[in-house]
Amino acid sequence: MAKKKSCSLCGSQESASNHVVELAPGFNICEECGQYIENAFNADKAERSASKASEAAPDKKIPTPKEINDFLDKYVIGQQEAKKYLSVAVYNHYKRVEQQGDDNPDDDVDIEKSNIIMVGPTGTGKTLLAKSIARLLDVPFTIVDATVLTEAGYVGEDIESLLTRLLQACDYDVKKAEKGIVFIDEIDKIARKSDNPSITRDVSGEGVQQGLLKLLEGSTVLVPPNGGRKHPEQKLIAVDTKNILFICGGAFDGIERKIASRLNTRVVGYGQDEVARKQHRENLMRYVTPQDLKSFGLIPEIIGRLPILTSLEPLDKKALRRILTEPKNAIIRQYKKLFQLDGKELEFTDEALDVIVDKAVEYKLGARGLRSIVETVMVDAMFDAPGSKQDTYTVDADYVRSRIDKAYGLAPEV
Ligand code: ADP
Repeated sequence: MAKKKSCSLCGSQESASNHVVELAPGFNICEECGQYIENAFNADKAERSASKASEAAPDKKIPTPKEINDFLDKYVIGQQEAKKYLSVAVYNHYKRVEQQGDDNPDDDVDIEKSNIIMVGPTGTGKTLLAKSIARLLDVPFTIVDATVLTEAGYVGEDIESLLTRLLQACDYDVKKAEKGIVFIDEIDKIARKSDNPSITRDVSGEGVQQGLLKLLEGSTVLVPPNGGRKHPEQKLIAVDTKNILFICGGAFDGIERKIASRLNTRVVGYGQDEVARKQHRENLMRYVTPQDLKSFGLIPEIIGRLPILTSLEPLDKKALRRILTEPKNAIIRQYKKLFQLDGKELEFTDEALDVIVDKAVEYKLGARGLRSIVETVMVDAMFDAPGSKQDTYTVDADYVRSRIDKAYGLAPEV
């Protein structure tokens, strides 16, 4: 039997739970020591970047709210209300950050941080808006899912670990990370489950909200260099969240009922036609207030730290149709580009695009579904086109229908 390897650093023997690898002849290392070394290097990198005097390139000029809005228009269809709120909030945030750089002792007005919360159905562009803003400002950006976070001491990721991803996004340059943007998705999933928090411990709900508070309000937090859980002996990186912009997003399913009861109107129930129901829901979302977030289960302290509240509209057929072709990186443009790289020309007829949109609506997939539908439609052509003699391809409505029916197992239309 082969001799079991043991770690040359700590001496622990290889076992089912302790993986030991040979680094160099006669020198082995176990997983735990390897992790420890990686952590130490990352923490050191962070320390060094933090101690570097701000020799960074002079900050770029902050775009005006109008410029931010125009930029967003290139990537995100519709959602004008949300764009306007975001543009102003982001502009003010960075102005505030700049103002802190000017040491003016006479200036006793402190502009408070304005984190943002976006409420709206899934797949309507919340993440895309946040991503586009980070792209414009060229600051580190990360997306975290609130559902993976748990209160300290429970299975899951420590809340501080969401800053690990921000650090990783800028190669552990703490100064850069401290001006970054964190998008916290599915914030509605950490809503308090019941109105009486004392009955059972609400590990994934209120506890996480309490933990998030510290980050949102701006304080120095100790971040595990590699995320996950903090270990007692691990070196931690100090990150000041004062100038990190937090943008939260959530679908808040059912919140329209809370809005309706506040407004003393009734959500149109079953039996009404779908269009009327949808329109009613659409209208209600627009009236969302901090009070409704509280009835939904966010704690007042969290709501107070997310002062900019805006809503996104569900996407109608017209918007979905525009999403297919208009944004800078629209799906149809991407496929045309893919064909072009093979020296082929790809066209879609207007009717073909209409059928794709109809299917996305029919399958209730929203904008997120457009891509999977186009992928399904195009797979055969993408398989055959490279190496074929045919130079131009036109996708028409019948082709779209036949591909979709083939893929989803429906009888082709005759
Ligand atoms: P969510 O609101 O759930 O965060 P996302 O922003 O992740 O939704 O949207 C999912 C995908 O759908 C995006 O990558 C984008 O391609 C498309 N999409 C959604 N909304 C829009 C929109 N308003 N304009 C352009 N594309 C959109």
